[in-house]
Amino acid sequence: MMISLPDGRRIPVEMHRVKIVQKINLLPADQRLECLRAVGYNTFLLQSQDVFLDMLTDSGTNAMSDNQLAAMMVADDAYAGSASFVKLANVVKKIFGFEHTLPVHQGRAAEHLLVKVFLKAPQVVLNNYHFPSTRVHVEIVGSRILDLVGDDALIPAGSNPFKGNIDIAKLRQAIEEHGPENVAFIRMEATTNLIGGQPFSMQNLREVREVATKNGLLLILDGSLIGENAYFIKKREAGYADKSIQEILLEMMGMVDIFYMSGRKSGGARGGLIATNNKEYFQHLMNWLPVYEGFSTYGGMSTKEIEAMAVGLEEMTETEVAGSSPQFIEYFAERLQEYGVPVVTPPGGLACHVDAKAFLPHIPPLQYPAEALNAAMYLVSGARGVERGTMSEDRDAKGDEIVARMELVRIAIPRRAFTLGQIEYVAQRVSWLYQHRDLIGGLRFVEEPPVMRFFFGRLEPLGGDWGKKIVDAFQADFGKEL
Ligand SMILES: *Cc1c(COP(=O)(O)O)cnc(C)c1O
Repeated sequence: MMISLPDGRRIPVEMHRVKIVQKINLLPADQRLECLRAVGYNTFLLQSQDVFLDMLTDSGTNAMSDNQLAAMMVADDAYAGSASFVKLANVVKKIFGFEHTLPVHQGRAAEHLLVKVFLKAPQVVLNNYHFPSTRVHVEIVGSRILDLVGDDALIPAGSNPFKGNIDIAKLRQAIEEHGPENVAFIRMEATTNLIGGQPFSMQNLREVREVATKNGLLLILDGSLIGENAYFIKKREAGYADKSIQEILLEMMGMVDIFYMSGRKSGGARGGLIATNNKEYFQHLMNWLPVYEGFSTYGGMSTKEIEAMAVGLEEMTETEVAGSSPQFIEYFAERLQEYGVPVVTPPGGLACHVDAKAFLPHIPPLQYPAEALNAAMYLVSGARGVERGTMSEDRDAKGDEIVARMELVRIAIPRRAFTLGQIEYVAQRVSWLYQHRDLIGGLRFVEEPPVMRFFFGRLEPLGGDWGKKIVDAFQADFGKEL
């Protein structure tokens, strides 16, 4: 809950107490430098034990509640007809209003089935913004996914509260250009993961629904971060302040044909699902479920995770749970801005995003400024985020680099996992880094895998070992033991 202090500041106060903890290590800076060198400056390859605050992702890393853990103990492991699945299906019906639920092992498995059933290549998929796994599923069958957010959604700093909206003019134009018969479906992502966890508004969803109906098109909602999108509608859209998250969810779902989600984010467990009220769609999908996922009452998930997801989804309808990550992100982004650090605004769900292009104007995109900044952040704090920029793109068919439109360091805030003290610590360290940004240099690949190179690639610092210079300056200010 956001609380106003007498000095005018607003801070997020945690509406939960810590019951189980995990010990974490803070290595001294010179050891962090050794770790970073050992992984070729690719923070993805760091071992968890060498990371102090792991802010790589919010996927499957959220804190679980006592009620979720308790539910896992009573999971029914029946292969067919599991009582755990009945609980999940009942929760989906109650909070989202869908009659039919198909369990899948994670979000991308839902995408696999949806593309298999509803896309006849080479149709296009129209959406607000793609998620990497969605794009790959569409492209491997020889189709394309078109991003139709407004132009301002790709500029880091901004004031549009709903940067995740589909631009309706662009949507109409795309349908006209390709012809409705060549559009597989319209996909709305809540919240748009790759461009800063940005939400869409209820009004926009309504308009997209109208366009879909007029053209006889299917509207599919990817609700992996649905709790956060509903929270932002409540906080930012006129007319929704007094509506509950539950009411907002039902209103959203009333407008879509098919809903799917990764349960690893808003769901607070590890799994996924597809839900619909259309019996025919359900049947088509169900035909393939046992082939790729498993029987209709587990879908590749552990029944323990099914239990945890059922409880997690219901908890998500509490404003304090849906807002737990956005409130921390808002605080984090505001603290960084106070120190002059350029961040994506308005703050969204999932993570605080630092604009590496503005932070490091002296590093060109092909020297991967976002990974350089992420590596430098690890050196001065032990925290790691993830690169979302040119390094996350792969080369095109001709072997040329694709320059990303934004160079971001995503510093994820998993739900209810970190404390305000830890956020404050990272904000302070990043601000120190901002004062010393001239020390940070570029990177170059020494080992570059052809696909998803950001996972396993290795790099080296350009223009001398700038990591050492940063650690020397850091130790001069803070001493050897930090
Ligand atoms: C995470 C995510 C997915 C994929 O889900 P997985 O569970 O990681 O397979 C799809 N869409 C969005 C918006 C996501 O955030």
